[in-house]
Amino acid sequence: MPEEIDIAANLERVRERMADAARRADRNPEEITLVAVTKAIEPAMVKQAIALGLRDFGENRVQEAEWKIPLLPEATWHMIGHLQRNKVKKALLIFDMIHSVDSLRLAQEIDRRASRIGARVPVLLEVNLSGEATKYGFRMAPRVTRGEEKETFFSYVEEILRLYHLEVRGLMTMAPLVAHPEEARPYFQRLRGLREELRERFPQASWEELSMGMTDDFEVAIEEGATMVRIGRAIFGERRE
Ligand SMILES: *Cc1c(COP(=O)(O)O)cnc(C)c1O
Repeated sequence: MPEEIDIAANLERVRERMADAARRADRNPEEITLVAVTKAIEPAMVKQAIALGLRDFGENRVQEAEWKIPLLPEATWHMIGHLQRNKVKKALLIFDMIHSVDSLRLAQEIDRRASRIGARVPVLLEVNLSGEATKYGFRMAPRVTRGEEKETFFSYVEEILRLYHLEVRGLMTMAPLVAHPEEARPYFQRLRGLREELRERFPQASWEELSMGMTDDFEVAIEEGATMVRIGRAIFGERRE
């Protein structure tokens, strides 16, 4: 039997830690959205979280989200994992926002599908700041090629902002797995810096959202300006995957 997980206590603790981190950075905790990540978590547990006042939830696979989300329609659903182009049509039916736009071709497919259903989809652009081959996202590693990568990324952004059925709201990243959360800080700082550059160059988009920070590093992410944190294990316990 799985051990009992006290979602209420976990949630209270996470909210306290979020508020403390916000205060350390002189920020209002209310401007930070907690997205509870429910991959591999049963709908009954998600229902408990909804009863405790959580509204925003994240899933990383369309296949799993496809059966789970219709059972929990009262929540706001965020797609946070890599989205294959052949799953876009389904994803648009169940998700309210997509954090993981990681290529121009994916953006174009979302635009095409959204136009058919007359929707305008809120999205974030996912950026790979570590250069790790296992990570998705537009590549922006701090290497010698940095300048080139940035120009390439900016040219993609320019095209994406022309797609009417996408509403670009900001950026998303995943920091590398590190031994200590402090080591993730430079990646969060870089995402914020990139957001400032994009704001200047492309003022037609809002760029207000920074989706960054997970169970192991959300406090550092909030100190560096996260507006959305995506937290699974600290709320629902370790996943059995
Ligand atoms: C699983 C996942 C999370 C949450 O991870 P935890 O370590 O459980 O907090 C956040 N973002 C993405 C993209 C994920 O896949």
